[in-house]
Amino acid sequence: MDGPGETDRAADARAAGDRVDLLLAGGGLANGLIAYRLAQKRPEVSFRLVEGGARLGGRHTWSFFETDLGPQADWIDPFVSRSWDRYEVRFPRRRRQLACGYRSISSERFHDVLTAALGERVRTSAPIASLGAQTAILETGERLDAALTLDGRGPGAMPDLVLGYQKFVGQTVRLNAGHGLAGPIIMDATVDQKDGYRFLYVLPWDADTLLIEDTRYTDGDALDRDDMRRGIADYAAAQGWAIDAVLAEEQGVLPVALDGDIQAHWRRAGGLTLTGLRAALFHPTTGYSLPDAVALAEAICDLEVIDAASVSALVRARSIRLWRERGFFRLLNRMLFRAARPGERYRVLERFYGLAEPLIGRFYAANLTGLDKLRLVSGKPPVPVGAAVKCLREKGRA
Ligand SMILES: Cc1cc2nc3c(=O)[nH]c(=O)nc-3n(C[C@H](O)[C@H](O)[C@H](O)COP(=O)(O)OP(=O)(O)OC[C@H]3O[C@@H](n4cnc5c(N)ncnc54)[C@H](O)[C@@H]3O)c2cc1C
Repeated sequence: MDGPGETDRAADARAAGDRVDLLLAGGGLANGLIAYRLAQKRPEVSFRLVEGGARLGGRHTWSFFETDLGPQADWIDPFVSRSWDRYEVRFPRRRRQLACGYRSISSERFHDVLTAALGERVRTSAPIASLGAQTAILETGERLDAALTLDGRGPGAMPDLVLGYQKFVGQTVRLNAGHGLAGPIIMDATVDQKDGYRFLYVLPWDADTLLIEDTRYTDGDALDRDDMRRGIADYAAAQGWAIDAVLAEEQGVLPVALDGDIQAHWRRAGGLTLTGLRAALFHPTTGYSLPDAVALAEAICDLEVIDAASVSALVRARSIRLWRERGFFRLLNRMLFRAARPGERYRVLERFYGLAEPLIGRFYAANLTGLDKLRLVSGKPPVPVGAAVKCLREKGRA
């Protein structure tokens, strides 16, 4: 598999601009990590990573809990820009420090690490006009061929899945003095609960630089940027932080899975093999996809033979299996979105953060035990019982 002959063929294919084994359409999180891991572990596989924008990864800060990733995932370390060994949550009736590591990857670093590792296999500023199972046509008319394309062009419309939304605007701000935080505040829900569940999220990059995000769990996907910018400014002022400059801004509308038909989602993809958010590979409650992206890259590289049939079968089966296994999270999400009154949704999370730390870690890793599930739903529910009962059954369709 790692023989020099195979590796030479992959290099020849790259140099000649030939048909490659895999064409990774979209140079974002999922496809970027697949490319990186293939280059490390499976040099016999030829591939191209084709991105429409000028840089890989767009403008994001991707964060994860250290308990989200398995022990085999230390290959992600070069991407990590900042780590903390604890984080905090704040609610009206609960404030808690959790002794769990938290890590963040900036898209600047993502781009730099990937381009250094992949060299000529990366194409940026190359928007794809149309994509087939084995061909990409660029907007310039150039045609690129592969044994298989992987469609990782980010979340598109998902009419077969029923979704709520986690929406946010984040600003990296420089303060005129130190902020005094020792670690991230993952949720500060002691703020006005407009729009549904609302919290502020704060990452301390250095002594006087913060990423502050105003986040809302809402039914609709419309993003009122100005209102969220005001939310950030008001929050900073309330903490006694004076903002000298806004250095950068990012925004997101992430899916929260409530119900749906994953088979229909894949049928709608036609013959395309989807990756990342497009493949519904995200945590059903947070919309975060980094742990799934790391695991998918690893699973592809662990295939005995990497070819069109094995990769497309693996990705599709994995997406369908994980969707099915994560039905319990969709049930909790329906409770949050449909049973809890919008201004009271924070109570569900406030109660959740009273549970044991290992359970909280397994929740974010989407790896709950049967006992965890019982613990999560036992006791007096923080939502009206009648409304909760109506949410129990999943319809399996949009
Ligand atoms: C601002 C923001 C912050 C987030 N923070 C976190 C976080 O902290 N932790 C976490 O786990 N998740 C986070 N997420 C959620 C999720 O992990 C990300 O959205 C993640 O980037 C999704 O990965 P992906 O590979 O599916 O898509 P993307 O990373 O969005 O990649 C898609 C790529 O395809 C490119 N593309 C699209 N169309 C074309 C085309 N026609 N031709 C060529 N290229 C194309 C895009 O330019 C983009 O680079 C965040 C999302 C956002 C938006």
